[in-house]
Amino acid sequence: MDNVDLLVHGGDVLTVDDAGTVVRDGAVAVRRGEIVAVGPAPDLAARYTADEEIDATGCLVLPGLINTHTHLAMTLLRGRADDVTLQGFLERVLKWESELLTPGNVAAAVRLAVTESVRSGVTSALDMYWFHEAAETVARETGWRLHTGPTFMDVPDPADGIAYEDRLAWARRDLEARGPATPGRRPVLFAHSAYTLAPEQLTGIFALGREFGALVHIHAAENAGEVATVEVRYGKRPVELLDSLGLLGPDVLLAHAVDLTGAEIAALARTGTAVAHCPVSNLKLGCGIAPVPRLLSAGVTVGLGTDGAVSSNTLDVLGAVRQAALVHKAGGDPTAVGAEQAVRMATAEGARALGLGEHLGSLEAGKRADLIVLDLSAPHLQPRHDPWSTLAYAAHPSDVRDTVVDGRVLMRERVLTTVDEAAAREDVGARTA
Ligand SMILES: [Zn+2]
Repeated sequence: MDNVDLLVHGGDVLTVDDAGTVVRDGAVAVRRGEIVAVGPAPDLAARYTADEEIDATGCLVLPGLINTHTHLAMTLLRGRADDVTLQGFLERVLKWESELLTPGNVAAAVRLAVTESVRSGVTSALDMYWFHEAAETVARETGWRLHTGPTFMDVPDPADGIAYEDRLAWARRDLEARGPATPGRRPVLFAHSAYTLAPEQLTGIFALGREFGALVHIHAAENAGEVATVEVRYGKRPVELLDSLGLLGPDVLLAHAVDLTGAEIAALARTGTAVAHCPVSNLKLGCGIAPVPRLLSAGVTVGLGTDGAVSSNTLDVLGAVRQAALVHKAGGDPTAVGAEQAVRMATAEGARALGLGEHLGSLEAGKRADLIVLDLSAPHLQPRHDPWSTLAYAAHPSDVRDTVVDGRVLMRERVLTTVDEAAAREDVGARTA
């Protein structure tokens, strides 16, 4: 018999592979952070001994949820800018950030965000924020998968004190130190937006990203106000501007993409540019509803994001799944964005949006072992007809029982193994008191 590090067995395994395979009474075998086999539990029990096991009987086993757009450290400001417009929100947030942002505060806030994410079955996130090194330190300490890197935003007093003219060199050093992509991880650069960066700045950032094979992530077309601002300044709408500069491509992920023309949707499809759909943030800020059904039918890859905890208040990706499966039906078409499609956006499609579809997003041999076990015993999850429906329309983040990232169990039986949850909570409380 072969030995593996971890065997998750029993329960139904929703693989989220292309065929949508569900293995009843299934199992997942993991060695050195990689999935080595997925199949019927009796078969894998006959093939493998395991150092560690998770008994998932009566549960649903699925890929960990992927948050493709967030600002984790904004947990620090949760509840401080509700029921305001995007522009009013940005003014307040920028002012508080200038007072609150230090590497220590970012680390504390990210630790709380990781705690919340692990509890709700989120195994990785694309995190755009100041002091990304502090966030990465917390991710390493906690064993969580964080996709982050240097952020560009041309504002008068940047929170990290690095002047705009020094940022390209700073980012280059960061990318050089980081090295090339590894399975489940790739270099990332963040260009905040076309309203906080001029066209020539955007061009420089994207060129640097391309030199290093990085994913470049940018907010774009979040609402009509942003589109008007960019259009007045440069004579082009944000996505149109990015396209005209040759900056769209399969290495680019747009956050929001709410206010798009048909030509812009076609440009995203033509260039292979992906979108991080953030339905809760968009609704709360009154930004509108992204044209996701049209994006999907044009062939654009769409992942799901929560955005930061000031604009969506939680980092609950399952909540974003439910919202994505509901909000597009508001126009009168109940077939728009079905349950399976919404779950795929939070898993396999989210991984593709990050350019990591080869390594993350489904439970298949050869992929990294980011997986969660959802306890199906609660009354709101009974009876069990269809796992996609259960996830999209009925499950709560608190139904997540176990969370595994890169083969390491970060939550077992609802107890976090790598974070002192009470200390993380109290630390943020003390820093924001
Ligand atoms: Zn954002």
